[in-house]
Amino acid sequence: MFVSPFSESIIHRAVEREIVEIFTHDIRDFGEGTHRSVDDTPFGGGPGMVMSAPPIVNSVEATLGEEIDSTEILIMSPSGYRLTQEIVDDLSTKDRIAIICGRYEGIDQRVTDYLGAKEISIGDYVVSGGELPAAIIVDAVTRLLPGVINSQSLDDESHLEGLLEYPHYTRPADFRGLQVPKVLLSGHHANIRAWRRNMAEERTLRRRPDILEQTKTCE
Ligand code: SAH
Repeated sequence: MFVSPFSESIIHRAVEREIVEIFTHDIRDFGEGTHRSVDDTPFGGGPGMVMSAPPIVNSVEATLGEEIDSTEILIMSPSGYRLTQEIVDDLSTKDRIAIICGRYEGIDQRVTDYLGAKEISIGDYVVSGGELPAAIIVDAVTRLLPGVINSQSLDDESHLEGLLEYPHYTRPADFRGLQVPKVLLSGHHANIRAWRRNMAEERTLRRRPDILEQTKTCE
């Protein structure tokens, strides 16, 4: 689940240039008994299985060793704090991040409590395992590391000033009768900036009024 996202494009280049190192570890290597079991039925009853604490905590301790105290430990969970660009920015300043991926019904709460981990959700929907959410965090954080992508691209993105980004256009100027907005062809930088700002605001108001509300309350 991690090989292809980490061996293509921007993340691949960052690894090649030794800007970031990425390791994956299989919790099952720390599973218990002959079946290397990592899950058990939930206390209190209910459907499905829960990932048990010992294999996960043993694996985190064995993997991180003395670095454990200086590592930001995250647990992927649909009931975590929702991932935002602000959280991603903060993670990009850390020396080391460990991301624990759940399966089944989720993870014994004591893993979070014992490790002092932060539970993070990638959005208000449920996927079947923590691996893709973890890959999203790795991607979002890696692209912010100095030298990975052109820093100008980072200065002008969605979610930066609490706004979605303006729409983009490239050649051809006429695509099947759909024209590029004239202002973008004008070469008038102030007008272009104003138009983009307008479009960003209008788009945010229409698609994500919740973000505007948040920005207002932050000011
Ligand atoms: N029964 C759980 C869903 C478990 S999904 C619940 O309703 O909360 C199995 C695993 O997938 C989770 O442990 C978590 O690691 C991962 N996962 C699913 N949706 C996610 C999301 N939106 N964000 C982050 N991780 C998610």
